[in-house]
Amino acid sequence: MAALHIGIAGAGLAGRTLAWRLLRAGCRVSLFDARQRDDLATASMTAAAMLSPLAELAVSDAAVFALGQHSMQLWPQWIHELAESGGEPVYFRQEGTLVVAHAPDQASLEHFTRLLQHKLPAACRAQVQQLNAATLAQHEPALAGRFGGGLFLAGEGQLANDQWMAALVAEIDRLGGRWHEGQAVERVDEGRMVCAGKTYTVDVAVDARGVGSKAQLPQLRGVRGEVLTVECAGVSLRRPVRLMHPRYQLYVAPRPGNLFVVGATELESEDCGPVTLRSTLELGSALHSLHPAFGEARVLRLAAALRPALDDHRPMVALRDGVWHINGLYRHGYLCAPALVDELTHTLLGTQS
Ligand SMILES: Cc1cc2nc3c(=O)[nH]c(=O)nc-3n(C[C@H](O)[C@H](O)[C@H](O)COP(=O)(O)OP(=O)(O)OC[C@H]3O[C@@H](n4cnc5c(N)ncnc54)[C@H](O)[C@@H]3O)c2cc1C
Repeated sequence: MAALHIGIAGAGLAGRTLAWRLLRAGCRVSLFDARQRDDLATASMTAAAMLSPLAELAVSDAAVFALGQHSMQLWPQWIHELAESGGEPVYFRQEGTLVVAHAPDQASLEHFTRLLQHKLPAACRAQVQQLNAATLAQHEPALAGRFGGGLFLAGEGQLANDQWMAALVAEIDRLGGRWHEGQAVERVDEGRMVCAGKTYTVDVAVDARGVGSKAQLPQLRGVRGEVLTVECAGVSLRRPVRLMHPRYQLYVAPRPGNLFVVGATELESEDCGPVTLRSTLELGSALHSLHPAFGEARVLRLAAALRPALDDHRPMVALRDGVWHINGLYRHGYLCAPALVDELTHTLLGTQS
């Protein structure tokens, strides 16, 4: 019997990860993307890729939390599978995250703590641990003497999204995926993709174009996010740190090679132009206030992209008019993608997860 031929419009995190899982399962996959595969301008290439089911619960709901918890089990398995098949290593850490606030902003931290305790299922509450100044310094010696205490969110993690996205390119090529780069899909219909006036026939059509699906999913909107990437040899952090602030909440995620990703702004705007001076100052000041040695950090990248969001801020995996959609990953795409992709893969293959 001929292998199932699946066409996927959009090779961001959602489309690319789905393509890899389907190829592994023996499907034929054709992947279409308007951009080149190493283009940095997408949400997937801009994200900080914090994997924060607990911290995200403060601004999301039980559905996102459950997807996040499931994904936290899948990420290490999938990264291991990639490495076993000869793929490039992907930086992944699951050593928890820290949440801190400067003395004038303690009320924000207290509110965040109460919100988490209220929304977290009782079985997970032990994952939130209060730290005093001494135990905070044990977790992150670089922060010794800088904060009176904080929270430790056990089980949270992060990954290097650029490495994940690049490793999938190599693996999709190795498994024989057909990649149509720089090809904007005009329409996705049941069993077909229309691209540059040409119609491609497939067995199953999946739309994973993020904000690019708006013409077919009018309830979708883009939410602007900006990040700053710096190199700084003077500070060493083992895990991501969130800084609570009454006006903005920012995080600093350490990466290999003395790199730190600082993010992210969240603006109700579909402008994806360059990062503004205001955001640069906010991101930079937050970083500098975490540790003065960041004053000497070298700015490597300032980037903005649009998070694809639906009104309820939940991701969707749904069949509409014969087309499967995986979209609305919003601010928790990396957190939820494995669980969503796993669900869609099993649905398309008619197997149990
Ligand atoms: C600043 C920022 C920080 C973030 N931080 C985190 C974080 O710490 N943790 C987390 O979990 N999530 C984070 N996210 C969210 C995460 O990045 C997104 O949820 C996720 O990347 C969305 O993936 P996607 O594949 O659905 O969409 P996209 O990344 O937007 O990919 C869509 C793809 O479709 C292609 N496309 C668009 N239109 C067309 C067309 N007409 N034809 C063909 N192809 C098309 C695009 O070129 C793109 O490759 C962050 C996002 C931003 C912007």
